[in-house]
Amino acid sequence: MITRTPIAVHREAATPFERGGWQRQLREAIRDPVELCRRLRLDPSLLPGARTGHGLFPVRVPVAYLERIRPGDPADPLLRQVLPLDAEANAVRGFVDDPLAEREHTPRPGLIHKYPGRMLLIASPTCAINCRYCFRRHFPYADNAPSMREWEKTLDYLRSDGSIQEVIFSGGDPLASPDRRLAALVERLDAIAHLKRLRIHTRLPVVIPDRIDDDLLGWLTATRLQTVMVLHINHAREIDEAVIAACARLKGAGVTLLNQSVLLRGINDDVESLAALSERLFEAGILPYYLHVLDPVTGAAHFDVPDDEARELVEALRQRIAGFLLPRLVREVPGERSKTPL
Ligand code: SF4
Repeated sequence: MITRTPIAVHREAATPFERGGWQRQLREAIRDPVELCRRLRLDPSLLPGARTGHGLFPVRVPVAYLERIRPGDPADPLLRQVLPLDAEANAVRGFVDDPLAEREHTPRPGLIHKYPGRMLLIASPTCAINCRYCFRRHFPYADNAPSMREWEKTLDYLRSDGSIQEVIFSGGDPLASPDRRLAALVERLDAIAHLKRLRIHTRLPVVIPDRIDDDLLGWLTATRLQTVMVLHINHAREIDEAVIAACARLKGAGVTLLNQSVLLRGINDDVESLAALSERLFEAGILPYYLHVLDPVTGAAHFDVPDDEARELVEALRQRIAGFLLPRLVREVPGERSKTPL
């Protein structure tokens, strides 16, 4: 029997109206570890470690996400995804800056071509939230932020390869880009006859649900391409009523919603949490898709769950939930032509 994890509501939570539009929420995300600890009433002993981690990969937490974190609880699974720690400074064997060797698959700035039939565009160099375990925490975004004119050359690469059927917007978070820019890009993709699908990898509808507004739905529904949104949610408590409403709007616009999670020590590394996550995803109209083991990126070793333990967890999960709610346990192996099932 799965008990649904209650949704934490911060007593001082602002209404969407008070928070302003998504652009303002993006601008006003918390970027200071002192402010993060103060707002969440965390023990000041956490500050030196938070400052160390922040120096390696800056803090960024939108207020709409902060409001789902339990104040005063250093073990809160949402907090652990965003709070920098001094453990991030540890050099651990096997953990490297570019764990997926993406720099070897970047034929043009802003474009990653790893898998047959699909190509990934870095549609935005920034994120709304900085997740401490991110495999791109050392990605050279400054070298991969083409101007609209430079995009044309990137699109020529796409136009010249008729085997590509799907374009994936990634980042950073592609939805951190203005709608004007995204709409212009999608219009150009629309004109490439061999493209069938647009996939968007994003965490923005989760961390700032107000991002799903009329402007976004305008270009999403105007394209002839089938649209798939792959969200990134690691814990059931990330899905509050605002996220459910945002997902309902997306589904109403004909967008297929999938989720990929990362298996993270201290966040979702138990059957109860994973089962609650799958159930909550489905309530929000999202199908669990992948459960990734951690990519071995420098600074994130403390989140690692060994493969054997991951397999056991998923086996136990299989006994608990309906088959269609079970995500596929995978690892991304540099040089492989698809994700590797574990
Ligand atoms: S939103 Fe995605 S790309 Fe951005 S920091 Fe988090 S995991 Fe990385």
